[in-house]
Amino acid sequence: MSSITYATVYTQGLGDDEKSRAYERELTRLREAGSPRACGHHIAGQEIDSGPAFDRADPSDASRVVSRGRLADGELVDRAVAAAREALPDWRRTDYHQRAEILRRTLQAIERRHVELAALLTLETGKTRADAFAEVAECAAIVELYCNQVTAAEGFVVAHRPPSPTSHADVVLLPYGVFGVISPFNFPLAISFGMTAAALIMGNTVVFKPSPLTPACGQAFAQLFDGVGLPTGVLNLVQGGSETGQALAGAAVDGIAFTGSADVGLDFVARFGRPPFVRPVLAEMGGKNPAIVTDAAGDLDTAARAVARSAFGMSGQKCNACSRAIVTDGVYDDFIERLCAITSELVVADPIDASAFTGPVISDSSVARFQESVALARQDGRVLVGGGSAGGPGHFVELTLVDRLPSAHPLTRDELFVPIVSVVRAGDLDEALAEANAIRYGLSAGIFSNDPRERERFLDEIEAGIVFLNNPGGATTGVWPGSQTMSGWKGSGSAGKGGFGPWYLHQFGREQSRTVF
Ligand code: GLU
Repeated sequence: MSSITYATVYTQGLGDDEKSRAYERELTRLREAGSPRACGHHIAGQEIDSGPAFDRADPSDASRVVSRGRLADGELVDRAVAAAREALPDWRRTDYHQRAEILRRTLQAIERRHVELAALLTLETGKTRADAFAEVAECAAIVELYCNQVTAAEGFVVAHRPPSPTSHADVVLLPYGVFGVISPFNFPLAISFGMTAAALIMGNTVVFKPSPLTPACGQAFAQLFDGVGLPTGVLNLVQGGSETGQALAGAAVDGIAFTGSADVGLDFVARFGRPPFVRPVLAEMGGKNPAIVTDAAGDLDTAARAVARSAFGMSGQKCNACSRAIVTDGVYDDFIERLCAITSELVVADPIDASAFTGPVISDSSVARFQESVALARQDGRVLVGGGSAGGPGHFVELTLVDRLPSAHPLTRDELFVPIVSVVRAGDLDEALAEANAIRYGLSAGIFSNDPRERERFLDEIEAGIVFLNNPGGATTGVWPGSQTMSGWKGSGSAGKGGFGPWYLHQFGREQSRTVF
């Protein structure tokens, strides 16, 4: 499975009919299970089913309740944190080789359960089979990457110059303690893995809270660690929504790793970063990611296809989805004609249908946000393609392109997390770069240009942590562990060191300088 990359699965499909059939059978089985999956908490090795129940419906058919979570209150969160604290002394002293070895054992569970995990991802998020299998493969890639990184860094011990011939000096990275990990709905396995495995391999213990939109995926994620030799209490799971998240961030944890919206992330940084002393709040947040297409783009078909794929994959619900196409004058009309044609061809359907390019959006509030945005676009600009929403039990909306919006319009500034792209006309590269940077976010950005000077300027001036030049597979998307990193600038990230990057794991450790005389 490790030979799979996001690019191969996502852009070329599964290329495996047997796997596709197995996925369809599993998805049907899950959908027809009769009763929703019970998703409780997991604290100190115990399954706990307390707290008010909340239901999660299938986004492809919301009349079907597929999972039932339990809301953890502050008391239960405190219990989970206490369990993680109790497990800490032994875990933090466990040799890094052994921690890596334990983590590596999850690979067998990922491999064994990968069809079921892919189907579960579709069940709760509505993502397509290609996206679902890619996400499962990404989990395996994350394990391998972290194990290799910690081994290559020899457990993060760096010899320093001894102050005298008989002394010895080292600098080491030691765990902070207990990390609260809070993950979003869009990559409920891979993002959960990315943060949790990083905390664990560095010797921290964890209380993990999945999104309330994906309680079953959260549960399945935690179960990947069953039987791998992780001591009791090292990884705990609490289910719940924003109140549970607030309780966890406000509890006696030593660090917080969060992925989600900028409003929530920045609130965590402001409120929970300090008391009673500064503690790390690693927040990976949203984006309003631009793809610039210049007169020197050359192959406009490739650029249009890449923008559409990047914007509409997972129905725009990726932090790094392209949501703005900034196109210079000379190619504007030609480009939007191609983008409109390609967008109209993409199939939005229930992912049980193998021809689906993308599935539904996650919830009825996403549908409402889509409808409000389209109404605003009709009022202040022009809807080029799409704009409709199906109504009915599935959260299906049309892939939508808008343009002619006045400058600094909310639709060109705010993250929407629905499949709407604002196309903006720019006089030249200067204007395009100014437009690209005129937002609170700085996650991902792409350019399509064959002019070396333009490409150089883009690299020099663009304010984004992930940049792509002429990325045919997906303008601003396609991040894969070991190839790209997931680092947000400005309102997109608090840490400035991205997931999967060479400096990501460091953030889960604090430095100690050791000099022995
Ligand atoms: N891995 C995804 C991609 O680059 C994005 C992850 C995210 O949205 O957080 O396509």
